[in-house]
Amino acid sequence: MAEEELDAEVAAEAVEDSEYDNSENGTIIRDTDIVFDCPHCGHNLAIDYRGAGLQINCVQCGESVLVPIPDGMKIDDLDIEPGEILKQLFKTRRDLQKQELRAEGLEEQVRGLVERNSMLYAQCEALAMQVAELRNFCQQHASVGEKMVALLDRMSASLANDAASAEAGDENAEAAAEA
Ligand SMILES: [Zn+2]
Repeated sequence: MAEEELDAEVAAEAVEDSEYDNSENGTIIRDTDIVFDCPHCGHNLAIDYRGAGLQINCVQCGESVLVPIPDGMKIDDLDIEPGEILKQLFKTRRDLQKQELRAEGLEEQVRGLVERNSMLYAQCEALAMQVAELRNFCQQHASVGEKMVALLDRMSASLANDAASAEAGDENAEAAAEA
């Protein structure tokens, strides 16, 4: 049997599953169905007895769920046709591929977060360096400012001194002129 045909059949079964997955909505549950709750989301699930012990995806949350084997049922007793086994095999393989894809996606997310974290760390370090540089710059300029103030103080003191002697010189000149 071609894989596309099997895919189509499995898809049809999935639709069928969802038709009787909820007993409260008056959907059909056969006497031979295995009825159980999804261990992940608690959704009530019903599956054909031939699905006992198989891995299925919950129609509600999509998580992988192991169909319980009813008491007294022996898996060997199950009358599974080779086509059915192949169908389940394809489904299991697809589930596996989906899980692998999901794991890859998660790994990529983790890698992204680690990358982002180290980027933030580097940014933090660079910022700390800039702050230290700025602090040194300010400190240097503060000392330059202090030196400038001292220099200007000396300059204005000297200018005041010069002005005083100039005034005294003028007075002496005037006195000499009057004499
Ligand atoms: Zn579920």
